[in-house]
Amino acid sequence: MIVGCLALNASFEPLTMVPLKRALRLVIDGKAEIVEAEQGRAIRSERLTLPRPAVIRLTRFIHVPRKFRRQVTNTFLFARDEYRCQYCGRPAQELKPREALTRDHLVPLSRGGTNEWTNVVTACSSCNTRKSNRLPSEIGMHPLHQPVEPHFVHLSWAVRRLTPIQSRYIRMFYGAETLHHLEVLEQRAARRIG
Ligand SMILES: [Zn+2]
Repeated sequence: MIVGCLALNASFEPLTMVPLKRALRLVIDGKAEIVEAEQGRAIRSERLTLPRPAVIRLTRFIHVPRKFRRQVTNTFLFARDEYRCQYCGRPAQELKPREALTRDHLVPLSRGGTNEWTNVVTACSSCNTRKSNRLPSEIGMHPLHQPVEPHFVHLSWAVRRLTPIQSRYIRMFYGAETLHHLEVLEQRAARRIG
């Protein structure tokens, strides 16, 4: 089942997943066209019948800043860090019942740190408590991976299922490697939820 619709820019660059309702609205308003539809399933309203879109393409090109600054949410942060504490290295499933994954600020907020991608890492609650309001160098706690801003496409799909049709467009534009990376993230997210 399709949970969302893949929206492409006019240039065919994959942009994001949009809810089905929003995709239909864009199509009805003439702001997007249906590139791929789910076979055999139609959406009927009073006045019109539309195929159920799996991939839509915007009719006008929208400019996406090279450094697309999506707000850091824990969902995406944990996905970026592969659901693993960046200090002790334990994955979510190895945490004790009273522990949880949290957001840690390398430079603590109380010391002028920000919520930018490059200043936040996934930390288990125990490591987060231990690090407290100190800098990594002060306490000798350094993240396994230097935090970077992830590609926004990775974020968009990190916690979502792609259908084969949608995957094809990702592969076309970003190559098989990106697709593989997304699939790995998806599987991790699915394991975590399931
Ligand atoms: Zn930890």
